Amino acid sequence: MNRKYRKVIIAGNWKMNKLASDVRPFLQELRGAMPKAKTCDTVICAPAVLATSITRTMRDTRIVCGAQDVSEHDFGAYTGEISASMLADIEVRYCIVGHSERRQYHNETDFQVSAKVKKLLSAGVTPIICVGESLLQREYGLTFDYVTYQTKAALSGLEAKDVRKCVIAYEPIWAIGTGKTATAIQAQEVCAKIRTVIRDNFDARTARSVSILYGGSMNSKNCAELLAQPDIDGGLIGGSSLDPAELAKIIESTVDFE
Ligand code: PEP
Repeated sequence: MNRKYRKVIIAGNWKMNKLASDVRPFLQELRGAMPKAKTCDTVICAPAVLATSITRTMRDTRIVCGAQDVSEHDFGAYTGEISASMLADIEVRYCIVGHSERRQYHNETDFQVSAKVKKLLSAGVTPIICVGESLLQREYGLTFDYVTYQTKAALSGLEAKDVRKCVIAYEPIWAIGTGKTATAIQAQEVCAKIRTVIRDNFDARTARSVSILYGGSMNSKNCAELLAQPDIDGGLIGGSSLDPAELAKIIESTVDFE
């Protein structure tokens, strides 16, 4: 990580876990266990039905609420969808876009990811754009090509000043929820590649200022090595974000890096 140029972000992805009654006790325990000084931006990306409860409980704290998906449309007859302005209205600050589970189970395309990014930016919500290869793509030596394609597609049509408002999360699909983490070297080389893609398609200042997170079975034991890498500016954390004590340890580990 490089605090001089970029925000350090630890974002939990609760996926479809937890109930409204879990929110207050979770956050109380998390706040109690977190380091006193602000060491990173802490985000809880929760199911949309919990967002209001989270934003209310976390008002005046250092923790902000994120969402896990957003509609590619502004408003209208889209049953079940939630728009970017609705998220902004309830003080959701970040939103995951293009998570591999959305791409896999809901056939989300790169075109939709790019549309969602634009809607979020217009509403003032920070997109956390997920990219990452499958095991087969890695074995075929296609990791860089695929991640380059996904990154370029998600950022297409944006100006550099908008790209600077985005966060990218490198999440190798084979590492998500499997307990199999990318090595620090594997994660660093792909995150560095993503930064190069941003530099080549926008400019050096933009590449330097975009926070790039690693996601895929990150936990309190492996986070230090991953976060020590120069191009990894934080984590997107699934399973380990469900336990407040574990999440607090990951947040605490960001203290050690300048
Ligand atoms: C995720 O789904 O974004 C994720 C990284 O999950 P896990 O930490 O459980 O691998």
